[in-house]
Amino acid sequence: MSDSYDVVVIGAGPAGYPAAIRAGQNKLKVACVDEWRNTDGSYAFGGTCLNAGCIPSKALLESSELYQRAKEEFAAHGITFGDLKVDLAAMQGRRAGVVKTMTSGINALFKANNVAGIQGHGQLEPGNKVRVKAPDGSERTLDAKHVVLASGSIPIRLKTVPHDGKYIVDSWNALEFDEVPRRLGVIGAGVIGLELGSVWRRLGAEVTVLEALPQFLPMVDQTIAKEAQRQYKKQGLDIKLGARVSSAAAAGKAVTVAYSDEKGEHSVEFDKLIVAVGRRPFTAGLLAEGSGVTLDERGFIEVDEQCRTKAPNVWAVGDVVRGPMLAHKGKEEGLMVADLIAGHYGAVNYDVVPSVIYTAPEIAWVGRTEEQVKQSGRAYKVGTFPFAASGRARAMEAGVGMTKIVSAKDDDEVLGVHIIGPMAGELISEAVLAMEYSASTEDIQRTMHAHPTLAEALHEAALAVDKKAIDGLNR
Ligand code: FAD
Ligand code: NAD
Repeated sequence: MSDSYDVVVIGAGPAGYPAAIRAGQNKLKVACVDEWRNTDGSYAFGGTCLNAGCIPSKALLESSELYQRAKEEFAAHGITFGDLKVDLAAMQGRRAGVVKTMTSGINALFKANNVAGIQGHGQLEPGNKVRVKAPDGSERTLDAKHVVLASGSIPIRLKTVPHDGKYIVDSWNALEFDEVPRRLGVIGAGVIGLELGSVWRRLGAEVTVLEALPQFLPMVDQTIAKEAQRQYKKQGLDIKLGARVSSAAAAGKAVTVAYSDEKGEHSVEFDKLIVAVGRRPFTAGLLAEGSGVTLDERGFIEVDEQCRTKAPNVWAVGDVVRGPMLAHKGKEEGLMVADLIAGHYGAVNYDVVPSVIYTAPEIAWVGRTEEQVKQSGRAYKVGTFPFAASGRARAMEAGVGMTKIVSAKDDDEVLGVHIIGPMAGELISEAVLAMEYSASTEDIQRTMHAHPTLAEALHEAALAVDKKAIDGLNR
């Protein structure tokens, strides 16, 4: 195969590999270069999301939730059993198997869509050339009409909390623990802290989460955040807000963490400490001198609304550019760019990017929070519906949480939908679709929802916006 391509994508995570596949579907000659290497030394496509993020975390969240439910809920269903045990090696084996199936699937998808998948490090050189260094050290140069940069992100490290991968760890290490830590510390009560904290709490760890901000989940609608805080506390997650970590040191088999809060200075000991204080764009070794691509002050590649960088015919998508660091946001950017390159229509609606926190109960939202709408000065109305009043949720022994809709008073536009409860991450898709099509609250009110389903909670919340809920109290 010649080394000239219409499109070369650097990075095969959830932003890069869909861009490559769509380019192939658009009949462009495309290659996708990726250097990801797993802890067992194997190379794999799929990036952070498939190898060390979304997929392995959800595999462990599922397994640990099943264990928790077996322990605490099955009796209510009339199901009892003798000795309930966790076989962590088997659980981790399943997690690794799920990942392997998904990452191998990308090889098959590349083949089916005529994408040349290339393992190795890619560097953009001036003139749209990509220098590739293969795992065996050999080098070659690919000529490209267009280059798509999708190099993703890596965890932020704290200078005073030295990472060692064994006791002071990041999210990737924490997905691969081979025993349940007795005392687990987590720095950061963000999405990773809450999801991984939940996994290990359910499996028996005492979990303490140290969060620097005084407010819990500030990006989440505060009605939902308060309910979440209550639920996590009930589950035994000890979340300390306003906790500023000054140092951590591993010695022997323990990690000592010093932090301060409004009550003063504290020192606490853990068996493992996860640092989950956010991620930063990854561009090390990506751009050769004179590539023409620019970075902003936080290290993100600068792009316009359609993901064009400052260099002609060089695009950038996913975690390495501005916007939420979410797999589905990166995917839509990748598809948009591959379509624009082919001369087709392409756009991303950044106003309706859904967010999900996969704890139990799940939290999901799209659009603006009540606090944001209030601050904007636009008159609004709110409807809520508790899952305790949902027949399906009750039947599932999951009558916890609520659905909340914030709508405009003037034209009834749906401005934000916020859910905490069973399968919230699935339920939010209806709200995303409604908002994508600029639905009014009345549109949702007049849409028939199957009974008994969890989705009825969204219907009832829409009715509650105008005090017309049937199964709720319209408060
Ligand atoms: P990445 O997935 O990081 O992929 C970038 C790829 O590029 C990597 O394979 C990297 O090796 C490769 N690369 C980088 N530089 C080069 C180079 N120079 N040459 C060759 N290859 C290179 N998001 C969600 O939406 N839902 C979730 O449930 C979710 N859960 C998560 C859980 C965890 C624990 C973590 C850490 C993240 C999670 N995320 C989740 C975030 C999600 O993983 C990222 O938003 C997503 O992976 C970003 O996709 P990307 O393609 O931009 O980058
Ligand atoms: P995050 O931004 O969600 O949370 C980081 C938290 O750490 C924040 O609450 C922040 O205030 C706190 N923090 C920062 N510095 C601190 C310090 N020195 N001491 C104590 N607390 C501190 O980041 P994350 O949880 O690391 O996740 C990284 C990215 O991965 C996020 O952008 C997220 O979107 C993505 N992700 C998404 C999912 C999902 O979609 N379900 C799951 C996991 C990760």
